Amino acid sequence: LKYCDRSNSMGVNLANDDQLRALAEQINASVRDDWFAEPLVPGARPSGERLPVTNPADRREVVGQWLPADAATVEQAVVNAVAAQPKWDATPAASRAAILEHAANLLESRMAEFIAMCTKDAGKTIADGVGEVREAVDFLRYYACQARRMFLVEPLPGPTGETNTLHLHGRGAFVCISPWNFPLAIYIGQVAAALATGNSVIAKPAEQTNLVGYAATKLLHEAGVPVDVLQFVPGDGQTVGATLTKDPRIAGVAFTGSNETANAINRALASRDGAIGVLIAETGGQNALIADSSALPEQLVKDAMSSAFTSAGQRCSAARVLFVQDDIGDKVITMLAGAMAELKVGDPGLLSTDVGPVIDEDALKNLQAHAARMDREARPIATVAMDDDTAHGSFFAPRAYELQSLDQLDKEVFGPVLHVIRWKVGELDKVIDAVNSTGYGLTLGVHSRIDATVEKIAARIKVGNCYVNRNQVGAVVGVQPFGGQGLSGTGPKAGGPHYLPRFTTEKTITINT
Ligand code: NAP
Repeated sequence: LKYCDRSNSMGVNLANDDQLRALAEQINASVRDDWFAEPLVPGARPSGERLPVTNPADRREVVGQWLPADAATVEQAVVNAVAAQPKWDATPAASRAAILEHAANLLESRMAEFIAMCTKDAGKTIADGVGEVREAVDFLRYYACQARRMFLVEPLPGPTGETNTLHLHGRGAFVCISPWNFPLAIYIGQVAAALATGNSVIAKPAEQTNLVGYAATKLLHEAGVPVDVLQFVPGDGQTVGATLTKDPRIAGVAFTGSNETANAINRALASRDGAIGVLIAETGGQNALIADSSALPEQLVKDAMSSAFTSAGQRCSAARVLFVQDDIGDKVITMLAGAMAELKVGDPGLLSTDVGPVIDEDALKNLQAHAARMDREARPIATVAMDDDTAHGSFFAPRAYELQSLDQLDKEVFGPVLHVIRWKVGELDKVIDAVNSTGYGLTLGVHSRIDATVEKIAARIKVGNCYVNRNQVGAVVGVQPFGGQGLSGTGPKAGGPHYLPRFTTEKTITINT
């Protein structure tokens, strides 16, 4: 009962050129310039100015507009969510699951349309877009499958003359707050978990990616989720998000984003009078990759490249620091620079592109400031050349630097920058201590052919996901439950067996017969 045995979405075979070209054509045909996202809150009449949405790869291209929720709309959403939840909670879990499974099928059939939106709204490459849709489909099916099993009521052992049963219920009205870096998969994953377990949901996506959140919400409505059970409330996190999280009518918050915002939400939940709201937070990381001299350099460099630069390094799981044992350090650094020279940075809508833009000008400025500091304080290893067609977008050239120590990094660097630190034989414990001392605990990569080394690192490291002799991104729902510890999140892990229970309350019914 614990693990749901169901197949993951097949997605698209990225190695099959014909399949990929056909998909690219469908994606191009799906691109529009009039996408629109507005609050989906029954009974509300949101007013205000429509804001433009521009393509991160070319800011001159307007792809749509969005309308933020005003204060009255936010209030109406809370009233609706509280009123709608009991009926949804009383709906059999199998019926809720069937709706989510229907949504998964719809999403799979509209893959090209959603990839097009992920590309234009979030700067995702086509390969990233395929991954987004697959993961979202997997979340829908996994949580549906799990809910069907979890909500079965069986008699508990007890004395003769009474029956005891344990019943699960949704907690109430849930707020789901998601980041821009997985605008479809994380948005749908949070929402699906809360819905599967009988909660009503107010969903607030990141401001940068409202179009994808809106389209995902409409799809869930089309699949059968009632419009007052799932409401879409776009807006600024510090106003709309803060208003929702400090409201005592809200039973819980599912959040994915930065550590700073998780702390702000935690404070908002603690500051309210009334029931204590539950917080499920998944946050950032300072992820390391530890390689010893037994690592195969070709495989190590290939995995370091994909872990550091996929999705322009804008993955919470991405490798930020490669600790390489000195004996193979020169060779690995030379090969890394060579591999980076092959990276193609540019239009994410082209199949030839490896690295697309970063999300916006703020992200670009932060990365440029970090690079300027690294240029002064570290040894530059490589900077990828960029084409002229990147001039009008938020593009940042991937780079690598050699550092003396991890102390030179004080926070998560959210972009395509890999830092390399050498270590000497006998210093493995020191390396593990340094990684643990960051306080983050999301992913770790290990490259070693020595079993004792792998076992030691796996036992001592404080992370949620440890990957050995492979890359450290792209966790698969139900296969690699994902999420961190320490500064990286509250747990439980998304796409794992312990996630849904956190969205529920338990009721024991004892009947004297
Ligand atoms: P963010 O700045 O923390 O924003 C996340 C969401 O929180 C956005 O919707 C944001 O709204 C909202 N928000 C901001 N302030 C708020 C407040 N005071 N109250 C309520 N909501 C508020 O994070 P991001 O830049 O979008 O995402 C990148 C971060 O997410 C990185 O740190 C990355 O590591 C982390 N991440 C973690 C995981 C994981 O599974 N562990 C997965 C993906 C990303 P606005 O749109 O107005 O900003």
